[in-house]
Amino acid sequence: MNPIELSFEFFPPKTQEGVDKLRATRAQLAALKPKFVSVTFGAGGSTQQGTLDTVVEMAKEGFEAAPHLSCIGSSKESLRAILNAYRAHGIRHIVALRGDLPSGMGAVGELRYASELVSFIRAEFGDWFWIEVAGYPEYHPQSRSPRQDLENFARKVKAGANSAITQYFFNADAYFRFVEDAKKLGVDVPIVPGIMPITNFSQLMRFSEMCGAEVPRWIARRLESFGDDRESIRAFGLDVVTDLCGRLIAAKVPGLHFYTLNGAAATKGICERLGV
Ligand code: FAD
Repeated sequence: MNPIELSFEFFPPKTQEGVDKLRATRAQLAALKPKFVSVTFGAGGSTQQGTLDTVVEMAKEGFEAAPHLSCIGSSKESLRAILNAYRAHGIRHIVALRGDLPSGMGAVGELRYASELVSFIRAEFGDWFWIEVAGYPEYHPQSRSPRQDLENFARKVKAGANSAITQYFFNADAYFRFVEDAKKLGVDVPIVPGIMPITNFSQLMRFSEMCGAEVPRWIARRLESFGDDRESIRAFGLDVVTDLCGRLIAAKVPGLHFYTLNGAAATKGICERLGV
């Protein structure tokens, strides 16, 4: 099997137990030699210090660590301060997002879209950061039309992104089509598929509903039929997601970005089966 670049996404833990679990998770996943690891960021302030602390700790351990940064609800001044803090810690890789406002938070902030955040980072920090942006093979849930969503994606890449990571999907054809369509709009950066391991039926359906990813009926029905049988859910999820990754690797995708949800077992299981 050819080597493929892997990256792993984590969220900043809120408790000491969570911190310990994440340390153990990344100690296990380090053996897979990820190109980078990323840490999510809560729009509206919920996890911002946690993102910085987690990224700095991972960078000290030798990982290339990339914080996510969302602009919604933020002033340019506060974004500048966060970016300055990352630069001061030698962090050079960032995932630039619009984000979603937590319900009840009204103010949109000074930058409305991820494309504006990318332009802002380039204007203020030049080429210091390698910038990733998000792509949506099944389209962003708020997009007015697939065409406009693609154009908005191309716009944020052209604002200065180096690379993109997609929302997770289970329909490989949606990803292939998205990449083709983006290329036709002049997007020439790598578009790395986001991979969601399947370990929990109700959580998967909840996430997918929120982010606009489709869980195909045959997958949902099979998972549902296992009820509380977590072993069967995991085994079936491992088969389905490994097959998906196998198809993507065969099509020579530029990498695989795993949404680990701070657990090692599912991601490791898939990578081991793939032989990567
Ligand atoms: P944008 O690219 O700004 O797009 C948002 C919507 O606006 C789309 O519908 C787009 O079509 C539309 N749009 C864009 N530009 C324009 C324009 N000029 N005019 C009109 N419409 C426009 N969320 C978090 O809160 N924290 C995270 O850490 C996080 N990490 C993520 C990582 C990845 C890889 C992905 C795929 C998503 C992540 N998200 C995260 C979720 C993301 O913040 C949401 O999907 C959010 O709703 C959109 O963010 P975006 O950067 O894609 O936005």
